[in-house]
Amino acid sequence: MTLRIVPLYPELLSIYADRGNVRVLEQRARWRGIPVEVSPLPLGADLDPAAADAILIGGGQDRDQALVAEALLAQTPALRSAIADGVPVLAVCGGYQLLGHGYVDQGGQRTPGSGLVDLETQAGPDRLIGNVLVEVDLDGHRERMVGFENHAGRTTLGSGVEPLGRVLAGAGNDGVSGHEGCRVGRVIGTYVHGPLLPKNPWLADLVLGWACERRGLDGALEPLDDRLESVAADAAAAIALAERR
Ligand code: GLN
Repeated sequence: MTLRIVPLYPELLSIYADRGNVRVLEQRARWRGIPVEVSPLPLGADLDPAAADAILIGGGQDRDQALVAEALLAQTPALRSAIADGVPVLAVCGGYQLLGHGYVDQGGQRTPGSGLVDLETQAGPDRLIGNVLVEVDLDGHRERMVGFENHAGRTTLGSGVEPLGRVLAGAGNDGVSGHEGCRVGRVIGTYVHGPLLPKNPWLADLVLGWACERRGLDGALEPLDDRLESVAADAAAAIALAERR
């Protein structure tokens, strides 16, 4: 049994080191002796929903999002099937925006989204840039999520869509609501780059645990020594709080 991590269009959607999220999932599986392979989905290729155990979508400039939009739309049925089968999806920034119905950039150009999650994004007059600290309540316990954000988009969640967390420092979805990201079942969207997962190992293991469960592996992963990750997250949290806008 090999765990299969599928990043979508990493040649276009992997801005601000988001490809690091793929490496973290891969390495945290390897450290546990779980056989794992990374199979990037290139533009124009078809996703086999039965051949993915975790799907990642990184961020991108407006033009990169426009370049992948048509291809992503064509993969929406396969993505919907994978999600229905319990495959976790982690989408960051531009990838998060394309989980929704669409993204309208600062020039008024609309890029259609997959509509997999009921959310909508409209670029604002300026970019929301800076370090970010988010409080995430997940399945009965509270986690801290740190990183940085750089987006023009302001994302509005549909009435049935829960935010991923509460902004303690930074802007989050729109700089107003105090919400960051979204979570619908095992689909997680977030504006947090960094890359996200190295400094948030709890989130990496959440996604990895879901992927393992789906393949009949025990989703309760043995703990790793995350002292270094914790020191890095402490530093990032302190910077975000000091920067609080
Ligand atoms: N182009 C989108 C925006 O500016 C997403 C940016 C990103 O992925 N960092 O909002």
